Amino acid sequence: MIKAIIFDLDNTLTDFIKMKRLSVEAAASAMIDAGLDMKAERIMRKLFKLYDQLGWEHQTIFQKFLQEETKTIDYRILAYAINAYRRVRVGFLEPYPHVIATLQKLKEKGITLAIVSDAPKIQAWMRLSAMKIDYFFDTVVTFDDTKQKKPSPKPFEVALKKLRLPPEDCLMVGDMPERDIMGAKKMGMQTCFAKYGHRKGKKIVKADYELNDILDLLKIVK
Ligand SMILES: [Mg+2]
Repeated sequence: MIKAIIFDLDNTLTDFIKMKRLSVEAAASAMIDAGLDMKAERIMRKLFKLYDQLGWEHQTIFQKFLQEETKTIDYRILAYAINAYRRVRVGFLEPYPHVIATLQKLKEKGITLAIVSDAPKIQAWMRLSAMKIDYFFDTVVTFDDTKQKKPSPKPFEVALKKLRLPPEDCLMVGDMPERDIMGAKKMGMQTCFAKYGHRKGKKIVKADYELNDILDLLKIVK
């Protein structure tokens, strides 16, 4: 019986990809306004390629991009890019469709809700509060709590301890099989793959359940 659901945060509850796409789009057109002679689609394609290579939280992506494409860093163009990116990023952070309704219904069913995220504590809380879904979660475990990322057992252990539940009573929901699903499975939890948030990469472990929409959770938790 599922008594608690532990969610991953980015790309499981937050539509991180959409936020990234809109921010990068704004940065591309700002760079063109500042004088960069390149088509917006090409800029975006290159930037996403860099994100794939260097990681989606990479902090100096525009510097790398300008250096690669123009062999120099024009700081005016860079500043336009960063300003535009930040403006959109701050203004746009929303949960996937049906997240709030689903969390609400799960709460009504008496399910305890938790978060296990690899994001730093302040980022995780800022995202939860910006989306106004923080009050659904009794337990929030972030990278700062254990200094270990999934699939390490540590963050899961901390969550279970706080929840005071055996692993088999918990369902882990996440978009990354090699982190969320693998880690939870090793702990003996039930697992659920958030297919809608999965971008690409290995699908080395199979979860007990799959979600095309977060609402489908209500069919799993009777
Ligand atoms: Mg994720």
